[in-house]
Amino acid sequence: MDCTVFEAVESRVRYYCRRFPVIFTRASGEHLWDADGREYIDLFAGAGSLNYGHNHAHLKARLMAYLADDGIAHGLDMHTAAKGRFIEAFEAFAAARTRGKYRLMFPGPTGTNAVEAAIKLARKVTRRTAVGAFTNGFHGMTLGALAATGSTSKRRGAGIVLSGVDRYPYDGYFGPETDTIALIERYLQDPSSGFDVPAAFVVETVQGEGGLNVASTAWLRRLTALCRRWGILLIVDDIQAGCGRTGPFFSWEDAGIDPDIVCLSKSLSGFGLPLSMLMIREDIDQWQPGEHNGTFRGNNHAFVTAAAALELWDDPAFRANQEALTAQLDRWIDETVAALGSHGLAARGRGLMRGIATAGDEVADAICAEVFQRGVIVETSGPHGEVVKFMPPLTTRPDRLATALDHLSEAFASALATTPDTLPAMAG
Ligand SMILES: *Cc1c(COP(=O)(O)O)cnc(C)c1O
Repeated sequence: MDCTVFEAVESRVRYYCRRFPVIFTRASGEHLWDADGREYIDLFAGAGSLNYGHNHAHLKARLMAYLADDGIAHGLDMHTAAKGRFIEAFEAFAAARTRGKYRLMFPGPTGTNAVEAAIKLARKVTRRTAVGAFTNGFHGMTLGALAATGSTSKRRGAGIVLSGVDRYPYDGYFGPETDTIALIERYLQDPSSGFDVPAAFVVETVQGEGGLNVASTAWLRRLTALCRRWGILLIVDDIQAGCGRTGPFFSWEDAGIDPDIVCLSKSLSGFGLPLSMLMIREDIDQWQPGEHNGTFRGNNHAFVTAAAALELWDDPAFRANQEALTAQLDRWIDETVAALGSHGLAARGRGLMRGIATAGDEVADAICAEVFQRGVIVETSGPHGEVVKFMPPLTTRPDRLATALDHLSEAFASALATTPDTLPAMAG
């Protein structure tokens, strides 16, 4: 088999396969192999869906035992033992990490389904229409979540007017001097600013697709306080930043805030199986039975692996590896930015959700293509696709990350030597 079958038959909408034009056959941990037997180190991790790597042995063993035992595969939203075990495990896990009391809701299995449900619930509970979303935010591709997404090219794909969302400036959007929380509050105080008090703000603590922009702890706390003052719900979209990607399991844990609704998906199943979930503060869980229904709500195979994934957080070796990788990546980014400083590089992100901003998409794409030739998978992000993104599985062996970073150093040097820096200037 070669790539012609995909090119001839599959829709033109396909995307990632164009950037990595091989046929992948097997994967384990931080490694992927293609049909020619070539090995790749995966620093993209399914856009953050594989925080525990590919086919993690502990998760796989649980799933194989469940399958062998004819465990329920599909059950609508009926009670299943797999779901019950996950809910029990998650409740105890979350209670140890958060202050709020949350109910769990399982909408359709993808991230955008969680965002849609969160926005719909916030509108219902507050009886307001407007939702506040932030510059450079990304929340998914279905119409409600798409309206909250910043990217013009993504929103244009809707083909209709997307409404009901007001855009507010994220932390640091106008540079370090501008206090964007004060600016937002000013809008809300002025009855003719043109901004209606929103039902909710939907926010990422680190903007995954928007360029690895980080909201400070102080900003998150002030946003939370502003929400409380105005009776606005705070929805944290932790779909990409959550599940340990930025450090703690919940990206907002250390900020000491209590979101009203939390959206989780990507690495929640831990195995790359589709699963998404809302954590809803108890008093705002005002759904009527069946009011937000669907066929695939809660994926039982994913419940099995998701419960097993939570157990990894009790393993000190898992946490130690995560910390070692974080320090290793941080050091390499600092060295790279310092060594190639004349090319205008800038460090981005937090934890193992990191990136380096380059002069533009031409350079960033050249780096990705170059390093793919050397057997490393990385992707770009940012409003202009100018940020090279590094998201190794949290379980990556440090010597494999070191190998990948050596290849990246070479790719940066070679791409920067051949691609002009005189691309359109990027803000921030
Ligand atoms: C990926 C992502 C989504 C959408 O998830 P899908 O599973 O692709 O629908 C929403 N929000 C954030 C922050 C994401 O990274």
